[in-house]
Amino acid sequence: MKRIKQYICLLLAAALCLTACSSTTGSEGTTAAATQEATTAETTAADTGDGLFTAGTYTGTGDGNNGPITVEVVFDANSIVSVTVTEHGETAGIADPALERIPAEIVEYQSLAVDTVASATMTSNGILAAVEDCVTQAGGDVEALKTPIETEEAAKTEETQTADVVVVGSGISGLTAAIAAAEAGSDVVVIEKAATTGGTTALAGGYLICVESELYADSGFDDSLDTFREYWDERMSYSGQDSGYPDMERWEYVVSQTGDTVDWMSDLGVTWQEEIFTGFGAYPVAYNPGGGRGLIDELVTIAEGQGVEILLECTGEELVVDADGAVTGIVAETADSIITFEAPAVILATGGISQNAELVEQYSPKVAQAGTISVAAAGSTGDGLLMAIDAGAAVFDEFFTSIYATTVDPEFQAAVADAATLTTTNQLGEMQTASVLQAKFLFMSMLWAPI
Ligand SMILES: Cc1cc2nc3c(=O)[nH]c(=O)nc-3n(C[C@H](O)[C@H](O)[C@H](O)COP(=O)(O)OP(=O)(O)OC[C@H]3O[C@@H](n4cnc5c(N)ncnc54)[C@H](O)[C@@H]3O)c2cc1C
Repeated sequence: MKRIKQYICLLLAAALCLTACSSTTGSEGTTAAATQEATTAETTAADTGDGLFTAGTYTGTGDGNNGPITVEVVFDANSIVSVTVTEHGETAGIADPALERIPAEIVEYQSLAVDTVASATMTSNGILAAVEDCVTQAGGDVEALKTPIETEEAAKTEETQTADVVVVGSGISGLTAAIAAAEAGSDVVVIEKAATTGGTTALAGGYLICVESELYADSGFDDSLDTFREYWDERMSYSGQDSGYPDMERWEYVVSQTGDTVDWMSDLGVTWQEEIFTGFGAYPVAYNPGGGRGLIDELVTIAEGQGVEILLECTGEELVVDADGAVTGIVAETADSIITFEAPAVILATGGISQNAELVEQYSPKVAQAGTISVAAAGSTGDGLLMAIDAGAAVFDEFFTSIYATTVDPEFQAAVADAATLTTTNQLGEMQTASVLQAKFLFMSMLWAPI
């Protein structure tokens, strides 16, 4: 077996320039027509007899992840003829499978008890609520339609597959690791539990720290490591840091790799916006024109071009460990199969823990106490951490929690724009108490360095 270079990938991002700008489809919303086309546009009096519904076309709304979702539902006397999402502001790329599947399955099963789509649960529930609204208007029996669908539970098939490297997670960490391994000649499979690639990365602004990269070599910007460290120290001075972490030696190593990492991505064909964005004051950052989603889409194309196989809705469940404690593979599950991957290298790139309340409580109690709402992808449930611990891995004695604190309060948001004023606001006082601003950084994930 060819020795596979191992890569740890790390990218850092600055807080104040890093707006939480997920790409959305906007108010006009993607239309997801169900399997049957709408045929009527008005309630038909003739159909209001003894059927299950008062036939006609109804409009209803439900709460999605980013606001209301509006649907149009056509009923005949005894069935749901079609469901069409007419307006929504859900996140492109993440919500798409739910927008396509949920309306189609409601019609197929004539039911409001269809399964929600993993990683797009809020969108799924928003559509279901909107259709429920229409059912109510049409005089249908909502409770009857919520009766669990009886399907014959087919036993999951069991199979074994082999690969040189299995990467768990298809965010920026997983995809770059997969590409690096494929470049080194490995046979690579990426497994992703969500119905779409990208995880939190696809929701992110996508601004990447790139210290001393070629990208801005002739730009006149000072992108030296020393200057970056000055910005960092300045931010940390009002961050309420209350532990020895991060280990600054490790920090420096990581940060010093970011420029090479971005240059490597440029060589792979990742595109960067020509206009220079800055973060940490005047520090230049790399930005894909499509933001986080754009970055992911380009990385997926590059990975697939290098022969990487990406399996969606395939959840890594358990590392396979041999008698000596070495990881020799991973067991994963799809809707209908259990796959044991035999692989000498398994890379865990499963993102954060913020969508797992228990883990947040355990590892970042102050964050739990602050009652923050995570905007990370639904898949950020710490699966990799848990699998590693189950396999005998040790965790740091103390977690360094890095948070990009933001708020829906416009006044406070304005204060955040000028970090210096934070110390004088009441709200900051509250947040400091809760240590929410322990690190005022999006401190992300990617160190790329051959080991
Ligand atoms: C709103 C917002 C804006 C941000 N903006 C920026 C920015 O501009 N710049 C920046 O550098 N950082 C930014 N960040 C932080 C950055 O997005 C994250 O640090 C980064 O995306 C993490 O990448 P990742 O690959 O480690 O994890 P993710 O992108 O979350 O990918 C992990 C993947 O693993 C999958 N997964 C989890 N468990 C399993 C399992 N058991 N089996 C299979 N798959 C699994 C998940 O579904 C997910 O797709 C932002 C974050 C947010 C929330």
